[in-house]
Amino acid sequence: MKLDLSRARDRMVDLHIVRRGIDDPRVVEAMRIVPREAFVDPGFEEFAYEDAPLSIGEGQTISQPYIVALMIAEAEIDAGDTVLEVGTGSGYAAAVLSRVAGHVYTVERHAPLATEARRRFAKLGYDNIDVRIGDGTKGWPEAGPFDAILVAAGSPNVPQALKEQLDLGGHMVIPIGPQGEQRLLKVTRVNATTFEEHDLGGVRFVPLIGEHARKNERLQPA
Ligand code: SAM
Repeated sequence: MKLDLSRARDRMVDLHIVRRGIDDPRVVEAMRIVPREAFVDPGFEEFAYEDAPLSIGEGQTISQPYIVALMIAEAEIDAGDTVLEVGTGSGYAAAVLSRVAGHVYTVERHAPLATEARRRFAKLGYDNIDVRIGDGTKGWPEAGPFDAILVAAGSPNVPQALKEQLDLGGHMVIPIGPQGEQRLLKVTRVNATTFEEHDLGGVRFVPLIGEHARKNERLQPA
């Protein structure tokens, strides 16, 4: 029998999204629509509406719903916007983004995760998402500049390529800091060379591995 988790989803949104201060109606509505249970590994559907990250294979995680909603709300996305996500993972955040933005480009370094995310988007009929397998610290130059950029893995610095691909007035939301403990930053491009940073609080993401971040998974600083 198929589990009906729509009530659990509404409850999670009321308790962990709305009550914790996310008040952008388009983000809240998107969180009510996208079935998170379709983005977790088989057998874990009943845990989809706990406000917690879950393992998705390849040593990676699907992010906590509150953090997904916070990052999307802070990116201040309008309906027709073009958005880049670095770190597709399960595809859940890209799916929520796709209900808020015009088009989503998302990059994942682990091919099996990207392939599974693509399959999930097709099954749900979410046809405004493009997935690329590769190093997201380089961005997606041909598709930019982006109105917003979300980075779903912790980086030691804001990758230069991503700064260059952020449109004027656009916002990037990115966890910055050492492994296991980062600050979530909102980086706004004021003009060609000026970027303002705003600290949104402490977070804990898996590491961003790539040419413009950490080079090697086995040589991460503690
Ligand atoms: N947004 C995802 C979701 O909703 O399931 C969660 C992402 S998970 C916390 C972080 C992802 O970033 C992992 O899947 C990891 O493989 C990926 N990642 C790390 N470094 C990357 C890079 N340079 N380019 C692309 N993906 C990267």
